[in-house]
Amino acid sequence: MKILLIEDNEQNRYLATFLLEKRGHQIVPATSGPEGVKLAAQVRPDLILLDIQLPGMDGYAVAEALRKEPGLRDVPIVAVTSYAMVGDRERGLAAGCTGYIEKPIDPETFVDEVERGLYSRDAGAEDTS
Ligand code: MN
Repeated sequence: MKILLIEDNEQNRYLATFLLEKRGHQIVPATSGPEGVKLAAQVRPDLILLDIQLPGMDGYAVAEALRKEPGLRDVPIVAVTSYAMVGDRERGLAAGCTGYIEKPIDPETFVDEVERGLYSRDAGAEDTS
C-alpha cells in the first residue's frame, strides 16, 4: 500500500521506510506537519503514519488538518509516539487518529502493527470482548 510517513527524525524515518519497503509498501516521506498535510492531499495515501512530536505543528494538529480534507476523511491515521502518558491515546483518537504505535520502533512487530492499522476503522465491530 501507499503510506505517507510524517516524521521529522531522520533515523526513525530511515528505519520505518526500510522495514515497510522490505515488505513491498511504497513510502512517501514528509519531514514536517505542513508538508505532510500538503502531500496527503496530492498523493492520496492508503494510510498515514504520523509522528506526534513534530516541530511547529504537532501530530494532533496535523491529524485535525488531515480530517478537514474531504478526500482524506476516511484514510487511516496511525500515530507513532514515544509519549507514554495517560490520555495520549484518547487525545490522538479525538484528533482523528485511528491507531497508535509506540516508539521506539520494534523491527519485529512494526510492519504488522502498521498493516493492522489499515483495518483499525473496523476494529470496533470485530471487538467482541
Ligand atoms: Mn518527531
